[in-house]
Amino acid sequence: MSVFSHPEFDNHEHLSFFCDPETGLRAIVAIHNTSRGPALGGCRMFPYASDEEALRDVLRLSRGMTYKSALANLDLGGGKSVIIGDPRKQKSEALLEAMGKHLEGLGGQYIAAEDSGTSVPDLKVMGRHTKHVAGIVEHTGFDGRPSNGDPSPTTAYGTFVGLKAAVKHKLGRENLTGLKVAIQGVGNVGYRLAQHLSEAGAELWVYDIHQENMQRAVDELGAHAASGEDILFLPVDVVAPCAMGAVLNDESIPRLKATVIAGAANNLLQRPDHDQALKDRDILYAPDFVINAGGIIDVFYERTGGSPEEVRAHVEGIGQTLAEIFTRSDSSGIPTGAVANTLAEERFRKRTGVAQAAREQLASAE
Ligand code: NAD
Repeated sequence: MSVFSHPEFDNHEHLSFFCDPETGLRAIVAIHNTSRGPALGGCRMFPYASDEEALRDVLRLSRGMTYKSALANLDLGGGKSVIIGDPRKQKSEALLEAMGKHLEGLGGQYIAAEDSGTSVPDLKVMGRHTKHVAGIVEHTGFDGRPSNGDPSPTTAYGTFVGLKAAVKHKLGRENLTGLKVAIQGVGNVGYRLAQHLSEAGAELWVYDIHQENMQRAVDELGAHAASGEDILFLPVDVVAPCAMGAVLNDESIPRLKATVIAGAANNLLQRPDHDQALKDRDILYAPDFVINAGGIIDVFYERTGGSPEEVRAHVEGIGQTLAEIFTRSDSSGIPTGAVANTLAEERFRKRTGVAQAAREQLASAE
């Protein structure tokens, strides 16, 4: 298994492999870049088919976190961890505690948060042995409501703010009354996004593989129920994919009728060049890693003890960042995802000097 010559290796600063035979823990932590501050990112547990697959995932995801945090203007670096195993069968308190000990050994260069296969209670178990876990503290959310650490409401609000910025840029309108929006997936984020849009007067179409989730949006928000085959291809203004990745691909892009794509799901583009394919069709794409950054902003402030007003103001910055990306894309002819990458690189390469201050701020919050 190659590391330095791995196709996903991108000058990552640190990789650590951890094995604890007693508990069955096999984990990899990847720290991509800490020039803006300590690396914060999810700890994923997944039954990877091979070590190679796990390495690929952690390299790719940790790099993505550097870009996401830089674009969210957070003094955080990018990192991620993966535990190799089936969370339903192989997760135990002992394994999670062993992971916590490993994280403690990294001295705070990496801070773990919840991800697929791990939950807030799991992170709390890790936290018996380390301070370097986040997203587990009950606090007052950006909207003044109590939060158990679940970042979804903040992610949904950031997506709403970003969607509005995209609509303003593409359609020249600030009033959302009558705006037609199709939402794929009305789970934690998608449903709350639907609530914000409904309050703003938008007309909604929804689809979810779980009938009860879809029905809730129909009953409580007056959304129209759509089918799985149609949801992305309806004649609406905006499509908001909030379920899974890779939905923007060779098959779907030619069939889209909306001119704005603004949704929270990660890795929406199946391949990087689908960014260009959307631009060729004159569809404005709000890059997923910019628009869905509300969650990481929430976790950051939970750790540093920011007020709900500070969190809200920071999340609203997603709209300004997107506006800058859209304007640069128009003037350069470069698609929005590529512009976002360049903007992130400008931000994290410039900020080396502040990393120590950020580390101290986060450490003092622990
Ligand atoms: P969730 O599991 O609560 O919701 C996802 C919803 O999508 C569920 O209701 C599920 O039934 C539905 N779904 C699954 N497959 C579907 C399909 N093929 N068609 C239609 N619906 C389908 O997850 P979430 O927390 O709402 O996250 C949604 C997306 O946003 C994910 O891609 C996630 O990675 C991303 N995201 C979430 C956060 C966050 O704070 N929760 C932050 C950043 C990114």
